Amino acid sequence: MLNRTDVRRECHKITFSRGEELQQKGAVRRLAWEKKKEDGFDVVQMDATVSGSGENLYEVKVKVDEDYREILEYECECPAFYSYSGLCKHCVAVLLDYLEKREETRKRGKTLADYGIPTGSSVSGSRGTASSSGSLPAARPDSRSTSFGFDRLLERYVQRDRVNLMQRQILGSVRLEPSFSFYGESLKVTFRIGNRRLYVLKNLGDFVNAVAGSEWASYGKELAFYHHPEAFAPQYRPLVNFLTFTLLKGSSYMGNYLSSVYKKELVVSAELADGFLESVRTIPLREEGTEREWRMEDGEPERLLEIASEGSGALVRLKKLPMLTGRQGIYFFDAGRIFRVDRERGEEIREFLLYMERYGKSGLYIAASELPAFVQDMLPVLSDHFQVKMKNFDPRRWLPPQAEFSLYLDAPQRDLITCSLFSVYGEERYNLFEDTTISGQRDTWRETEFSGQAASFFTAFDPQRHQMVLSGGGNLRLPA
Ligand SMILES: [Zn+2]
Repeated sequence: MLNRTDVRRECHKITFSRGEELQQKGAVRRLAWEKKKEDGFDVVQMDATVSGSGENLYEVKVKVDEDYREILEYECECPAFYSYSGLCKHCVAVLLDYLEKREETRKRGKTLADYGIPTGSSVSGSRGTASSSGSLPAARPDSRSTSFGFDRLLERYVQRDRVNLMQRQILGSVRLEPSFSFYGESLKVTFRIGNRRLYVLKNLGDFVNAVAGSEWASYGKELAFYHHPEAFAPQYRPLVNFLTFTLLKGSSYMGNYLSSVYKKELVVSAELADGFLESVRTIPLREEGTEREWRMEDGEPERLLEIASEGSGALVRLKKLPMLTGRQGIYFFDAGRIFRVDRERGEEIREFLLYMERYGKSGLYIAASELPAFVQDMLPVLSDHFQVKMKNFDPRRWLPPQAEFSLYLDAPQRDLITCSLFSVYGEERYNLFEDTTISGQRDTWRETEFSGQAASFFTAFDPQRHQMVLSGGGNLRLPA
């Protein structure tokens, strides 16, 4: 903030003391100032009338930048102004008067003038409640006092209004911009904060504590404000809320504890993924070290899965995409787009993706012995999620042979029926109630379906004879 030394620097020593004399004897008759923006910078424009020698009244205009402690422009009607360089004594008097009144205002109502509230008004006056109580009946002197502790609660509300009024220039304008980098199966996120100029957020713990308490915090010459949620631009509030609730949750003691846990980086792993990515839907998410902005969208990325015949088996290749698994969603990062897939839908390929990530970097090789199962049970699922491209690979070749099923019923004694079930492939026969391991070329899908249907008519399983059993008091019914 501008001070007396800054004024003294702009004029001759003698001019300064004459200006000081003028100000002290009240020569500044009128002084008004307003804060305004010029080229994106905050300036204070003063407009004053100063009585000079004799009957003369001089109009004086001075413009200063408080943040950069600079006197930008000044103008006076006096002859000295036009004859000499630097400030004249009238300008000095106006500046000193301003500094004095500014300090008075600060003491009286904190920093009203600093935050753009015109001098002469005050926070309590503008609320208009205290002075308009004249029409209300006078309180009885013996009236009860306010319930215990309520005054402190009320103070928070008063403070909230006051804070917003004081920093109305900044209100609704602060941005909190995240940028991320991939960090294993998580994201590492840092933040910058500001309205015009962005500052690196050095300590997330301090930040969320300041928001939770609507406290004053400063980041640099151009950014210091009460961290009331309303100070932030609306589209950034979901992120501010997310950080505050997430980081404060579960910490029974705050302050120093949080500051030491959270420096400037937030690691977004499964636990935080959904909340974090949801909270940045409304704002740009930048990738660290690039200009690229990422946007969230629902749906699956178009992804190529290539299956090529190799030797007697097949080689599977998948276009690699960074992936983040949350509790509710799986997120795929593809060229500036973050695709959100419901966990339920993504679950059926999640393990395949993790496998490819860990072991399949140079391709996944599937030998001929596993190809029938792959083609029958896995390929349909994969085709539902990826664009499958075959290279000299014909899946029909690996489809299992047609099975025939033989079902044997027997009634070895009264009130007892047994059932055996076989799948038959030419010469080969498999007892479906005996052998659960899969060997040879078999139509496992139909075998499973058929044996399940058959088993549902019986009440027990005989592990010795590998048969399903139905026993009962004469009311046995079998389907035709
Ligand atoms: Zn002058």
